Amino acid sequence: MTLALELFRSVPRYVAARAVGERMPGLLAGPLAPLRLVNREDPVLPAEGWARVRPRLAGICGSDLATISGQTSFYFSPLVSMPFVPGHEVVGVLADDVDGLAKGTRVVLDPVLACAARGLDPCPSCASGATGRCDRVTVGHVSPGLQTGYCADTGGGWSGMLVAHLSQLHPIPDRMTDTRAVLVEPLACAIHAVLRARPDTGATVLVVGAGTLGILTLLALREFTEAGRITAIAKHPKQRELAAAFGATDVADPDGAITALRRSSRALRLKPERGTPFLMGGVDVAIDCVGSKRSLDLALRTTRAGGRVVLAGLPVAGADLTPVWFRELELAGAYTSGVEQVNGEARHTFDLAVDLATDAPLEGVVGATYSLSEWRQAIDHALDAGRLGTLKVAFDPRE
Ligand SMILES: [Zn+2]
Repeated sequence: MTLALELFRSVPRYVAARAVGERMPGLLAGPLAPLRLVNREDPVLPAEGWARVRPRLAGICGSDLATISGQTSFYFSPLVSMPFVPGHEVVGVLADDVDGLAKGTRVVLDPVLACAARGLDPCPSCASGATGRCDRVTVGHVSPGLQTGYCADTGGGWSGMLVAHLSQLHPIPDRMTDTRAVLVEPLACAIHAVLRARPDTGATVLVVGAGTLGILTLLALREFTEAGRITAIAKHPKQRELAAAFGATDVADPDGAITALRRSSRALRLKPERGTPFLMGGVDVAIDCVGSKRSLDLALRTTRAGGRVVLAGLPVAGADLTPVWFRELELAGAYTSGVEQVNGEARHTFDLAVDLATDAPLEGVVGATYSLSEWRQAIDHALDAGRLGTLKVAFDPRE
């Protein structure tokens, strides 16, 4: 048996949470929470090539908060199996030998449960290395689940034990601390988003949001591209400080964003009869690291004609797509990670992220850790992290 936080479907509570949303975090971590702390049977190894992993740290991600608060689209409902243990940003220790990896090895988890993990011949996406685009995340050895942390059979990071397939395991260097290692998964997502954005040398870039994903996206932009001026939009003072430290050349708050971008791109600003102003002209590339209606509207309204807008944060609400049509924008999703082409070389995003996380200035990015029994405080803290000046909040399931 292992202690675990479990997300269970409870339709009335789920619907109530949708109505309450993120506006009342106290209620979400309280009586309306679709989470409960339980003693669960250890997950069983589904097949050859799987091993047990004891999580040492597991992050709380924006997509977890959106799931808990019922903000995510019902689109996801056939892609998960209930009840599941959340937690897909994981550093842990192997509790079994598996092929070349010995029991006791410290690993980070690529959470995608793609063809290899499911015992299937690779689908076309998996065959090309784009495991995030796998078509078979609902079939095979384990129950439906786009990732560990959304699958009833595998367990998740918010518990004392999960099971993972060899294809998901990435060993990490001894000198990498757990607080760096738990950032490898979000960093891999940020690197993938930047490689999807692929700004040209000297291109102007907008990064909307300066939570963990926004900050790691800035780091990845400076590491993997020759982007020029980068404007970051950050709501809170501490986030503005961090955005500048991680490579933003200009930092603005959401209210001042359009004015700042008009100036920096020497664009023409137009004001519709209703709704927020937009630019004729603007940045070459925008990366939305928030996923709200407001953040995506801002990205779409301030990207130049023919520019590219990347959805890096899980989008939870509809934006006005008029600029996509009128400005002939390219709209691109960036979901999880896979095999990337970097300088003509094929490398897995996780390997790029492990290298970068080993030496990048990430001290303090994990701002707080909680035991599983403190989960209400942890969720409250994560929901309010920006205002409190915290980036990543994580569980330490060993406590
Ligand atoms: Zn596949």
